[in-house]
Amino acid sequence: MTNTPLLILGAAFSSEERARLEAAHSASFSAAPDAVSELSEATRATIKAIAFKGHTPLNAATMDLLPNLGLIANYGVGYDAINVTDASARGIKVTNTPDVLNDDVADIAVGMMIAQSRNMVAGDAWVRSGTWAGGENLPLNRKMSGSSVGIVGLGRIGRDIADRLAAFKMDIHYHARSEKETPNWTYHADVVSLATAVDYLVIALVGGKETEKYVSAEAIAALGPRGVVINISRGSTIDEDALIKALADGTIAGAGLDVFNDEPKIDERFYDLKTAILQPHQGSGTVETRRAMAELQLANVSAHLAGKDLLTPVN
Ligand code: NAP
Repeated sequence: MTNTPLLILGAAFSSEERARLEAAHSASFSAAPDAVSELSEATRATIKAIAFKGHTPLNAATMDLLPNLGLIANYGVGYDAINVTDASARGIKVTNTPDVLNDDVADIAVGMMIAQSRNMVAGDAWVRSGTWAGGENLPLNRKMSGSSVGIVGLGRIGRDIADRLAAFKMDIHYHARSEKETPNWTYHADVVSLATAVDYLVIALVGGKETEKYVSAEAIAALGPRGVVINISRGSTIDEDALIKALADGTIAGAGLDVFNDEPKIDERFYDLKTAILQPHQGSGTVETRRAMAELQLANVSAHLAGKDLLTPVN
């Protein structure tokens, strides 16, 4: 427990997460990311660390309101909401919560692939509606095991997805900015070449400006009519308009999407796309993993306030 004021930023914290932060750092203040200016100048001057959660941009304007800020500890591995360049320029460290969520995000990627291929959402409705009891069988769907997959971004999560899909006897292809050491997976120097070679395209890139529409309209078209897009990264990493059009026109077979632009008020055209499985950005959303993420965030805050080395710094 420290008495150093901690700023808890973001409405996304659960009451349990907030209580744990407050228990560890007794003098805590809460604010919405766009309302830090409402704290008094004296309070703002005492704050040395922020525990941050959510997707509201956190940039220079907010940092400059906190003259003694030394750390922004993000809840989540993706820290694209935080302007790390602005933070670094002010000597502010940023941390995230890598690795502890790899299993869950990889699980949901594979889960969406199976659910999409085997038409499981429609299958559930088929049973509940009595259609099956009435004697009608669900139309045959599509085998996933043994087919080909392309991973866009073979980082921590991408690799865990590929490892799982190898057990499904899939032919693994991938794209990253550099070739990686892998079992016998095939490297592609660009996403269009990757998409041309595979049936399933799984996006596991970081988000942010540099990867905006990294999976382009051309790459989506290259997937072809058997192509299925799976996205667990950020909505921004794919050309969303082109994806919606390809799904609506049937020029690709389907999608499994956990992330979207403008969450949670996503493009309403998605609601009518029957070949897409839609998830509410729940990749890391298990009790176990959210607790591990909260603990890692808190450990980074505590290390900083105690003058110790950060566990998972990003700058
Ligand atoms: P990671 O280990 O850092 O891997 C990120 C991948 O992105 C790497 O393959 C990297 O390629 C690539 N990349 C980074 N910057 C790039 C750039 N400028 N251009 C092209 N490629 C670039 O990250 P991770 O831990 O696997 O997490 C990946 C992302 O998953 C997170 O950033 C987050 O957005 C998302 N995520 C989603 C959920 C969810 O609930 N759905 C949960 C957790 C994370 P190189 O190998 O070439 O560097």
